[in-house]
Amino acid sequence: PSQTLPEMLAASVARYGKKTALEFFGASTTYQDLGRQVARAAEGLRRLGVRAGDRVALVLPNSPQHVVAFYAALRLGAIVIEHNPLYTPRELRHQFEDHGARFAIVWDKLADTVAEFPSDLALEHIVSIDITEALPLGKRLALRLPVAKARQSRAQLTATPTSKRPIAWKQLLTHGSLSRKHAGPALDDIALLQYTSGTTGSPKGAVLTHANLRANAMQGRAWVPGLHDGEETFYGVLPLFHAYGLTLCLTFAMSIGAKLVLFPKYDLDLVVAASKKSPPTFLPAVPPIYDQLARAAARGTIDLTSVRFAISGAMSLPVATVDRWEAATGGLLVEGYGMTESSPVALGNPIGPSRRPGTVGVPFPSTEIRVVDPDDPTVDLPLGEPGELLLRGPQVFQGYWNRPSDTAATLLDGGWLRTGDIASVSPDGFVTIVDRLKEIIITGGFNVSPSEVEDVLTSHPDIAGAAVVALPKSSGGEDVAAAIVLREGVQVEPDAIRDFCKARLAAYKVPRRVVVVDDLPRSLIGKVQRREVRERLMS
Ligand code: ATP
Ligand code: MG
Repeated sequence: PSQTLPEMLAASVARYGKKTALEFFGASTTYQDLGRQVARAAEGLRRLGVRAGDRVALVLPNSPQHVVAFYAALRLGAIVIEHNPLYTPRELRHQFEDHGARFAIVWDKLADTVAEFPSDLALEHIVSIDITEALPLGKRLALRLPVAKARQSRAQLTATPTSKRPIAWKQLLTHGSLSRKHAGPALDDIALLQYTSGTTGSPKGAVLTHANLRANAMQGRAWVPGLHDGEETFYGVLPLFHAYGLTLCLTFAMSIGAKLVLFPKYDLDLVVAASKKSPPTFLPAVPPIYDQLARAAARGTIDLTSVRFAISGAMSLPVATVDRWEAATGGLLVEGYGMTESSPVALGNPIGPSRRPGTVGVPFPSTEIRVVDPDDPTVDLPLGEPGELLLRGPQVFQGYWNRPSDTAATLLDGGWLRTGDIASVSPDGFVTIVDRLKEIIITGGFNVSPSEVEDVLTSHPDIAGAAVVALPKSSGGEDVAAAIVLREGVQVEPDAIRDFCKARLAAYKVPRRVVVVDDLPRSLIGKVQRREVRERLMS
């Protein structure tokens, strides 16, 4: 990369000026307008005291203001920290304790919560954004989002210490534009502290530079064949606060002059409504979203024939979902793989007939992989043998914020990133993710991959979802256990499910316990939280 993220945006503003950059409930912002708003917000933040190297926390749903705030903070050389606005106050507070940001730009529904964080936190300034402020009233009313906490009373609000009384975003934009001469960041400066999803433990802050993030957008540009710069319509249904949505929508889409249609949350009705005005051409999402959209397309509820690029990541993509999507839309659905620590995309399937469902494809441009012995990552395994996947490339992060021992354990000599995932590589180089190393179940000396058992369970016509975990045995060791969600209106005996598994799996892989549950705990992006399933089954 030769451009920092603000330089990249400036180039798009110059090149795509009057084209639409953002669309939100039908209201559009051109690249020129976006450039102006970023310059104004940057000046407002500068007057508030934001300097190069300062940390600026964003706690925002997808919205045009989210894009502006992100680039404005980066323009000043500050470090952006993204947060899930649907986290509970406790979860958010933990993150603020960890990163110690002095500035926060937050969704107005959370401003009171953030303002009441304990005074020993570094937080000094809060800017509050009403994401509906540019919309007509009718649209505003339609836009109700769940907040993790009941709103506070007015009395509590006035009790907020003056230093932390939120400043309105609108107010921040009244000071004119940042001087063009104001120095921006350097390529190797930190751009982002991006928290991991917290699937295997508490979320860790991954330190990513401008070069890391710019590289991943360039790798994506080189990967996707037949892209039309300045002509694509991206659907931002993934959260911008997660690495996947952030790179696909905030950086990649903006780098190619796309129109980014933003959704404050994924919702089928919102997508149907938007598709009538701006049919999507590029729709990055996760398997549960593709599944729902494909079913809707098959019913005729939505026309998705305009989608040329459908790229799934973050969790394994069932082949049944690929078939359903491709039958209903006539387009391809391909799978990639990544992690927050690699900005995030590291592997992808070719977008074309050689893509291979059930695999995560091959390494991205300038990305190298190794498969090693998880007990000794200096030992490479023979081709085809499953082992821990290592990655190296320009998108690999600098380490974890405040966690030197995790960094040392994850970033190996020579710049290799330990993924913690078990993978195998076919003779022609296609990679299959077996499972997370931490979630492999060891029972009676055998290794069981929970994903393999889940795939069998979900192939049962009455099972809508399954999570397979290890439960400790009183005699020591672990048992395979499954939590399953049944399709509506059906009843099945756990023993019948076990018989179904017995016919398809070696005896040691068959779940000893099968528990029917109402739903499975999922992260906001839709990953099943096996850790939580395990806790529920043990309690
Ligand atoms: P934490 O690191 O906090 O435990 P996390 O690993 O879920 O959480 P992310 O960085 O969002 O946080 O996710 C990266 C992980 O997602 C990968 O390590 C891998 O386990 C999983 N993953 C990503 N893409 C795929 C895929 N296509 N198939 C299977 N798993 C995938
Ligand atoms: Mg991880």
